[in-house]
Amino acid sequence: MSFDLSSLPPVRGKLIADAPLAPYTWFRAGGAADALFLPADQDDLAAFLAALPLEIPVTVLGVGSNVIVRDGGIEGVVVRLMGKYWGEVSVSGGNGQITARAGALDLSVARFSARAGLAGLSFLSGIPGSLGGAVRTNAGCYGREIKDVLVRINGVDRTGERVSFQGEIADLGLPQTGFQYRHTDFPSNVIITSLVLATQGQGEPATLEAEIKTHQARRAETQPIKDKTSGSTFANPDPPGTENQRSAWQLIDAAGCRALRVGGAQVSEKHCNFLINTGEATAADLEALGELVRARVLETSGVSLRWEVRRIGRLAKPA
Ligand SMILES: Cc1cc2nc3c(=O)[nH]c(=O)nc-3n(C[C@H](O)[C@H](O)[C@H](O)COP(=O)(O)OP(=O)(O)OC[C@H]3O[C@@H](n4cnc5c(N)ncnc54)[C@H](O)[C@@H]3O)c2cc1C
Repeated sequence: MSFDLSSLPPVRGKLIADAPLAPYTWFRAGGAADALFLPADQDDLAAFLAALPLEIPVTVLGVGSNVIVRDGGIEGVVVRLMGKYWGEVSVSGGNGQITARAGALDLSVARFSARAGLAGLSFLSGIPGSLGGAVRTNAGCYGREIKDVLVRINGVDRTGERVSFQGEIADLGLPQTGFQYRHTDFPSNVIITSLVLATQGQGEPATLEAEIKTHQARRAETQPIKDKTSGSTFANPDPPGTENQRSAWQLIDAAGCRALRVGGAQVSEKHCNFLINTGEATAADLEALGELVRARVLETSGVSLRWEVRRIGRLAKPA
């Protein structure tokens, strides 16, 4: 389905009808958005949402490193925050905090803070997403999660109202947002537009940059980062810190699923909690392979794995 773009509110950014989304995902698979909106800035986004009839669904994508967009595409408007404005990062005030827009890559923020001599954000270099996606998924690695560094979240809700979460999240009993291991209950009608992040104060830039290089080398050694993938397919069944913690990859390996295939989708040989698109995989191949892995793990170990990768959109219509 596609929109008559003239029926949608005017924008200063780009609005594209029937826009293929595969190029916007790490898997390079999946269908098209009825309409794709690339807002010029926060005012453009807010004005568009305020004028867009509420019955039209809106979905936000980051850099697509944690999603399977189904082959039937996504209904309504997909918003993607990309371009120079959405990637801006700066040091805010004299208290060593960093302000970044939600389209900034986690890696760019880690590098920026290293160059600025501010410690505590190097872990972000291990996550290939954007900051908006990091909040939604409570992304983390090397013992730290985005929730540990959040001071403030700014966003725009579905009606175009600007919202800001400070205090509730920063001081944080975290009740409304429920940040847990790779999960949040952050309101689904809010598009995150910028964040204020806490650092751990002064650090030596060369040391911080070396830390980032080490994280990246470790990743390249253990993960298929050059493949079309989406990172960990399933959450580990026990959160970090649990005694005798079970890993999803070990359960998958024990179930004999390493290198298992469905169509063009394959369980990575390098890290078997990663699915890869070997070339021509459809989203249906990837999802079916994931379900096959879940079934085999359940059968062999009794553990029902939880999808960490988000599956969004419509199934393809049968041919
Ligand atoms: C090779 C590889 C390694 C990975 N390693 C890790 C890891 O170590 N740790 C980890 O946590 N993850 C990891 N991931 C998964 C992924 O990078 C993270 O989940 C990341 O935070 C997703 O960000 P994204 O911008 O790609 O979001 P997307 O995948 O585009 O979207 C994910 C979710 O966030 C929502 N979202 C995106 N932007 C916004 C916004 N502005 N406002 C509101 N909601 C938004 C989307 O609607 C969607 O629900 C890895 C992925 C890959 C490919």
